[in-house]
Amino acid sequence: MNDKPLPFDERTIRQIARDYPTPFYLYDEAAIRASARRLNQAFAWGAFKEYFAVKATPNPYLLKILRQEGLGGDCSSLAELELCERVGITGENIMFTSNETPAKEYRRARELGAFINLDDITHIPYLEQHVGLPEAVCLRYNPGPLREGNAIIGKPEEAKYGFTREQLVEGYRQLKAKGVRRFGLHTMVASNELNPEFFVETAKMLFQLAVELARDPGVRIEFVNLGGGIGIPYRPGQKAVDLDMVGRRIQQMYQEIIVPADLHPMKIFMENGRCITGPYGYLVTEAIHHKSTYKQYIGVDACMSNLMRPGMYGAYHHISVLGKETAPQDHTYDVVGSLCENNDKFAIDRQLPEIQAGNLLVIHDAGAHGSAMGFQYNGKLRCAELMLREDGSVMQIRRAETLDDYFATLDFSKLQELG
Ligand SMILES: *Cc1c(COP(=O)(O)O)cnc(C)c1O
Repeated sequence: MNDKPLPFDERTIRQIARDYPTPFYLYDEAAIRASARRLNQAFAWGAFKEYFAVKATPNPYLLKILRQEGLGGDCSSLAELELCERVGITGENIMFTSNETPAKEYRRARELGAFINLDDITHIPYLEQHVGLPEAVCLRYNPGPLREGNAIIGKPEEAKYGFTREQLVEGYRQLKAKGVRRFGLHTMVASNELNPEFFVETAKMLFQLAVELARDPGVRIEFVNLGGGIGIPYRPGQKAVDLDMVGRRIQQMYQEIIVPADLHPMKIFMENGRCITGPYGYLVTEAIHHKSTYKQYIGVDACMSNLMRPGMYGAYHHISVLGKETAPQDHTYDVVGSLCENNDKFAIDRQLPEIQAGNLLVIHDAGAHGSAMGFQYNGKLRCAELMLREDGSVMQIRRAETLDDYFATLDFSKLQELG
């Protein structure tokens, strides 16, 4: 069958569902640890650090696991900074890559001793005026028409992020004149990219740029941050990025470009989210209705507010029907949630085994940009997050929201003031 493997079976999920009603997210601890190790291993030849993109899966339990594997945190908001601090990710284990940033967020990042990565040349005086310049500053490069970009992030010249080439030179010149001593160089030009060459090209571009910046305006780049964006095989048959190969190829570039320019040792950072946790988180939901009109609909108890990637990007998420992994996929369904929005569909015209009410469906590859993008439109509540521990036990790492949570920001007692 054309199905993706699961680290659990129907019996396990039915047992879990007795304590934690569907829908819920389930993360596979062992697989997440292994995935962090694979990335570290691929760059073990260099001074490498991965800063996990907190926005992908902002859960303190998962962040702590990743910290234990040696990862830092890539933050872009106050809440993400606080989250890191609370799990012990502090100082230069935090990369603060934000844009359109309010002064108080820069202030907190500086307090925590994070690397601050500036998105625009006007943020140099802004940071200086509101917070003061730290000893180390990183700048985000947008190569514009020099790079192609990809589907999710779009063309670099149409992306709101980063400095132009000219601004970058001017930016480092200003920082140097203002007494900044340590410099980082960052770019992020792809999202969910499966072509390994893309990352090799990005490294090459930044390495060459570091060499040019050493000449003019004469700054020594201490680290390059290649960004995140390593894709995952959402569809069966797609191939995961060969991280070892990417690591080896980047090592080759380093030997060819950085070493002869006398810029060794230079640190190499990445800030992936998706490839670390994405494939190892699952949204488990129960089929509650079968509707037969112009099409066949399976109504489930999760909806787009639990996972909006299909509705937002038309993203493919594989679906397994528990207990029917090897059954013939001879039915065509739209698998839909209960929002009053017609794009609340987890799958459209999907070939699946016959589904009855009460069947449990597993939506794959929901471990990044899944729960994190949850919302409450239509009064839908965010569901629980659970972690399947390495010893087979289950830990609740975020409870489901309740109606009290939903109403928590409302004060009904003032209604009478309206007369
Ligand atoms: C979203 C984001 C990431 C992580 O992207 P993934 O696709 O999850 O790897 C990294 N860096 C920045 C600046 C981002 O905005």
